[in-house]
Amino acid sequence: MKGTPVATVFLDRDGTINEDVGYLSDPAGLVIIEGAAKAIRLLNDKKIKVIVVSNQSGVGRGYYTDSDVEAVNLRLKGLLAVEGAALDAIYYCNHHPDVDCLCRKPGTGMAELAALEHELNSSMAYVVGDKSSDIGLARNLKAKGILVLTGKGANELEGMEEAPDFIAKDLTEAVGWILADIERSAT
Ligand SMILES: [Mg+2]
Ligand SMILES: [Zn+2]
Repeated sequence: MKGTPVATVFLDRDGTINEDVGYLSDPAGLVIIEGAAKAIRLLNDKKIKVIVVSNQSGVGRGYYTDSDVEAVNLRLKGLLAVEGAALDAIYYCNHHPDVDCLCRKPGTGMAELAALEHELNSSMAYVVGDKSSDIGLARNLKAKGILVLTGKGANELEGMEEAPDFIAKDLTEAVGWILADIERSAT
């Protein structure tokens, strides 16, 4: 189909793009993981949609507010832009884990909203994250799940219910695998 993007990558934020410092609420505390901006730029170059889906239960827990999350997201976009990288959209769930919402990962609400609001190729979709909830999201979307060992990834691997499709050292390695996988599917 004309104009349909080649693929969609749903990206976790904390521990995947930026260092997971735990309930990050201060934009000044945002540190991009080495190589992450360049990895996102590679996806941009290939016209692959990059959609951030982030669980921000810190709002529901009362640790910080929606405007704190938005300030961090704005800073994230700014730091990525400096390196020529862009996110197509950022979605986050602000609910407490005890709230029965549809958006908190591994729930698919954020990805489904993204598919409504953007032209996405949902049949070629990947989820990259550092937690089992990210791999769970991939399963629920029938997408491929890539666990990164940055952030909480190394701890999460133990006792994980479902194996990821690939385990990557970091986002750079994850994107390399995705690009090769798309290449494989095209031939
Ligand atoms: Mg994370
Ligand atoms: Zn939610």
